[in-house]
Amino acid sequence: MSTCCPLKIKHKPVTACPYCQQKGRAIAIETLKSQLKPLFMRELKAEATYYFCAHPTCSSVYFQQEQVFKLEQIREKVFQKNQEPDCLVCYCFGFTRGEVMQDAQTNTPQILNQIKTGTKNKQCACELRNPQGRCCLGNIADLQTQATSKNASLLSGS
Ligand SMILES: [Zn+2]
Repeated sequence: MSTCCPLKIKHKPVTACPYCQQKGRAIAIETLKSQLKPLFMRELKAEATYYFCAHPTCSSVYFQQEQVFKLEQIREKVFQKNQEPDCLVCYCFGFTRGEVMQDAQTNTPQILNQIKTGTKNKQCACELRNPQGRCCLGNIADLQTQATSKNASLLSGS
């Protein structure tokens, strides 16, 4: 899967979340500056490398060594940790989980191409808008697979 916004990361790419022990990916400091609620900005260590925890039930979102920023300290709902249909998956162009699932079940899904066109035209700002600090295309593709396999199992009556 190609990405539109390569991260400017020079450090170790992965390290383990202190809460769930799952490995997280290094994330640009700009992402935290954009995503943290104002109250928690003063706790940000601007020189540190933070990592993103993508575990679906872990309350940690960003971490480094002993420090963790949790879900309630982040402005956006985090796609990986929120199963609600109104949770955004594409934070740049505003497509929700529900919209993408619905679109995937139509004969001519549009959303993926709309996003690709947007990223091609450099209209995206994934590093700032998406809590994961990266392009959402991988998540969209996963949702499409989920939606179409759900559909298939409904049709086969299982
Ligand atoms: Zn975690």
